[in-house]
Amino acid sequence: MQDRRHFLKAAALSAAALSLDGVSSHAAPYVKGSKAIKPIVLSTWDFGRAANLAAWEVLKKGGRALDAVEAGVKVPEADPNNHTVGYSGYPDRDGRVTLDACIMDELGNCGSVAALEHITHAISVARLVMEKTPHIMLVGDGALQFALSQGFKKENLLTPESEKAWREWLKKSEYKPVMNIENSSYSTEKETTFNPLKLPGNVYNHDTIGMVAIDAAGNLSGACTTSGMAFKLHGRVGDSPIIGAGLYVDNEVGAATSTGVGEEVIRIVGSHLVVELMRQGYSPEKACKEAVTRIVKKNPERAKGLQVGFLAVNKKGEHGAYCLQKGFNYAVLSNDSNNVLIDGKSYF
Ligand code: ASP
Repeated sequence: MQDRRHFLKAAALSAAALSLDGVSSHAAPYVKGSKAIKPIVLSTWDFGRAANLAAWEVLKKGGRALDAVEAGVKVPEADPNNHTVGYSGYPDRDGRVTLDACIMDELGNCGSVAALEHITHAISVARLVMEKTPHIMLVGDGALQFALSQGFKKENLLTPESEKAWREWLKKSEYKPVMNIENSSYSTEKETTFNPLKLPGNVYNHDTIGMVAIDAAGNLSGACTTSGMAFKLHGRVGDSPIIGAGLYVDNEVGAATSTGVGEEVIRIVGSHLVVELMRQGYSPEKACKEAVTRIVKKNPERAKGLQVGFLAVNKKGEHGAYCLQKGFNYAVLSNDSNNVLIDGKSYF
């Protein structure tokens, strides 16, 4: 009896010691002995390049991936020319800009806000939910109250340009969760081949920044932030603030994030699925492909008219993406990748 007690105590102590540095004692087998690419940061879409640069400022100094992804996604959140994330995001059908965001670190800590109004940096509010509350997700008025209590100032996020687009939409008020299907052949400018809302200027009517990063210490984090589908029903929440759907990080295995029609991603708990497939040995691209294929299997007809893209990185810094329709791309920045844009392969 005495021996058994000793043994149990020793086992518990060594397990605790192994997890003290935040790195699990169960390292993924395929990581052992291989040289990981780190630091590295990856983001969805072309606007991910500017975000990657901000993240790199943190990573290149040996900073933490969590700080890098927060700093990175704050760039499109504050960009008045980006109408799908943060400030100047397209509003809902009632003219209200409501933001969704989440963040997750290498320890499995996570925080999220949904349907948050009046605060540009939804990602920083999500981080504070993670760090300052016993909760993971705050929504709507509660999220705003919390943000104000943390010193954020109430702002008007609806810019004249976004309002103009909304007023244009109001003429018909046709609520269809349509999305742009992009032309993959752009370089700096995204051209859309599908613009049913006839939106002026920048015609994206959705597109999230999802960012995943590995820091010099080999730890992963991710962040995801969006204003969601343009002209959505008030109160609609997409995949982006939902841990496991829009973002998932597992420090043993890798991280994944998504963009596109959130309802489809939620149905398959997409980002978690991608990470679990990588745990089983799938490459990042194959894991993303399998997730996209499941969306198609659920409803092939519906999938034909939708865009969804997944982006994933594994613990070794290998990365890949896959999407339903041509046009999804991602930006990669590391010591070997000069913030290049890579086209995701597509199902259709
Ligand atoms: N996934 C986002 C949402 O459904 C939109 C997007 O990424 O395009 O709200």
